[in-house]
Amino acid sequence: MQGITLALSKGRIFEETLPLLAAAGIVPSDDPESSRKLIIATNRPDVRLVIVRASDTPTYVQYGAADLGIAGKDVLIEHGGAGLYQPIDLNIARCRMSVAVPAGFDYEQAVRRGARLKVATKYLHTAREHFAAKGVHVDLIKLYGSMELAPLVGLADAIVDLVSSGGTLRANNLVEVEHIMDISSRLVINQAALKVKHALLTPILEAIEGAVRT
Ligand code: ATP
Ligand code: MG
Repeated sequence: MQGITLALSKGRIFEETLPLLAAAGIVPSDDPESSRKLIIATNRPDVRLVIVRASDTPTYVQYGAADLGIAGKDVLIEHGGAGLYQPIDLNIARCRMSVAVPAGFDYEQAVRRGARLKVATKYLHTAREHFAAKGVHVDLIKLYGSMELAPLVGLADAIVDLVSSGGTLRANNLVEVEHIMDISSRLVINQAALKVKHALLTPILEAIEGAVRT
C-alpha cells in the first residue's frame, strides 16, 4: 500500500503508544480493546494500524506487511532483528528480565556446585545466552505463559521472565535472584520501507523521537 502501516499489540503497548502517535498528529479511529477490528484506520488517510500479537510484531515488519512496529526488547531479542532497523528506544512498557526461584531454593549453591538447572521460559534465546555466559548448564523448557507455575509444580527449578512490580512473583512465593537486563519497547522499521517511503516516514519518526525526548 502507498501509505504507512504500523503494527502494534493491544494492551500496554497500544496504550503507551497513543501519546507518541498524538505527537505525530495520528489518532486511531477505533479502540482495539472494544472494536475487535484488526485493521484500524486513523485520522490520516495515509496511516493505518494493524493489531498483532506482541511477539509477532517484528515478523510483520520484517516481511513488509507493516512498515513500522513497536516491540519490546524481549521480543526483538528472540526474533533476532533480521530486516529491521531499530532506531528509537521509546522508553515505554518498561520492565526487567530476571531469573526467579521458589523462596528457600538455594540458587547460588546450585549454580556454584555446577548442577544442571532446569529453567522454564518463553525467552529461550535470552535464557540460553545468559546461562552460557555464566558457564551454568541448563535444560531449557519452553513455555508460552504463566511461567511462575513451573517451579511450583516441579516442572523447573527456576524461571526466566519479565518482572515489573514483582507482585506476581510474591503471590506465588518466588524470589528474584538475578537481573538479566532492563526491557523497554523500540520502534522498528522495515529496511526497504525506510528507503521507499522515506518522505512519508521521516516526519512521523521525527515527531515520535521528539515526543520521547520530552
Ligand atoms: P501475550 O499477552 O499476547 O501473551 P505478551 O505478554 O508478550 O503477549 P504484553 O503483555 O502486551 O504481551 O506485553 C507486551 C510487551 O510489554 C512485552 O513484550 C514486554 O516488552 C512488555 N511487558 C510485558 N510485561 C510487562 C510488565 N509487567 N510491565 C511492563 N512491560 C511489560
Ligand atoms: Mg503479557
